[in-house]
Amino acid sequence: DNFTEANLHEWIQENVAKSGYTKPTPVQKHSIPTLLANRDLMSCAQTGSGKTAAFLLPIINHILTKGPEGLKPPTINNTGRKTFYPSALILSPTRELAIQIHKEASKFSYRTNIITSILYGGRENYRDQVNRLRNGVHILIATPGRLIDIIDQGYIGLQGCQYFVLDEADRMLDMGFEPQIRKIVGLGLPQKDGRTTAMFSATFPKEIQILAKDFLKENYVFLA
Ligand code: AMP
Repeated sequence: DNFTEANLHEWIQENVAKSGYTKPTPVQKHSIPTLLANRDLMSCAQTGSGKTAAFLLPIINHILTKGPEGLKPPTINNTGRKTFYPSALILSPTRELAIQIHKEASKFSYRTNIITSILYGGRENYRDQVNRLRNGVHILIATPGRLIDIIDQGYIGLQGCQYFVLDEADRMLDMGFEPQIRKIVGLGLPQKDGRTTAMFSATFPKEIQILAKDFLKENYVFLA
């Protein structure tokens, strides 16, 4: 009943210990091995359940242990713009949640060379966000609208994405983001078989069941 059992890279274990986590929450206990084994996941998890670490730790572990072989290098398009390809995409319904996830991701990847970046709406943030992407990005945390814009502008491509996470999926649908989410999935993200997908939702109504069926591999793990 501790984080050692999960067999995470020792740097991650150090960062987890530094965060003061000693015992995994139930969501973490079940999600971490599932995602480490590249099984898809539907988790009915509330805020406060520890769901953020549940998806971040396996993603960071994958990038750390697979290293450059799993990374798609940047390309330069015909207008000279450099496109970066994150290894993991985490979609968040709100800027506040995105910021929270980004903070946790930075904490858990401390002292590694993993680069995390964040995109969310608002005119004053656009330039800063684009400039930060120039450092490269392994883990991208984004709200749907701004991400579509940034992909359309050619700054980001999703073709190298090995992990795809939909956080607070029910809230995304409540906020009317379903068309944007479906658009993002069609914008170059690898097919189901070529990625590991995790959905987190506090509730599991019909609409979420349909999303799960559309985005997750048939043998996905369901965590109530
Ligand atoms: P989350 O549900 O991911 O938003 O996490 C809720 C809060 O619990 C956050 O403040 C986390 O830092 C904290 N937390 C998550 N996992 C653990 C853990 N295993 N032990 C102690 N605190 C944790």
